[in-house]
Amino acid sequence: MDGSEPPRSFLCPVRAAQAKLGRLPYTCRGLQAKNVAEVRRHCLRPLPGKRPPHLSFLKLCPTCNEDFLDEIEYEQNHGKDGLNCGTPRKQRKGAGQKEQWDNLYKKVEHHILSSAIVAET
Ligand SMILES: [Zn+2]
Ligand SMILES: [Zn+2]
Repeated sequence: MDGSEPPRSFLCPVRAAQAKLGRLPYTCRGLQAKNVAEVRRHCLRPLPGKRPPHLSFLKLCPTCNEDFLDEIEYEQNHGKDGLNCGTPRKQRKGAGQKEQWDNLYKKVEHHILSSAIVAET
C-alpha cells in the first residue's frame, strides 16, 4: 500500500447494471477488481460454461482515455491506436479510476438497455 490505491474495488459493470435495472438474470458471479483495466478484461473474457463474454467490443482510446463499446463509433472517431482522435486527455489513475468506472458503467447500462444482451434462459 503506497496510499495511491483507489478507495474501493470495482464491480463488474454488467452485473451492477443487471442489479440496478432489476429482474435481469445475472450472467456472471461478480467481480472485485483492483482497477478498471481488470474490469475490461473481465468483460471481454468468455464466461464459464462456454458462454460468450459480456461485451463483444470494449476498447479504451489511448488518446482521449474513454471507453467505447461500439466498434464502429470507435473505429470512425478514434481509430486504431487512437490516431483519429482529436481530444487528448490524461489517463485517469488513482481516484480517477472511479470516474473511469462510472463512465464505463453508464455505457454498459445503455448498451444493455438498447440491445438484446439479456439472455432468455
Ligand atoms: Zn461480470
Ligand atoms: Zn479517443
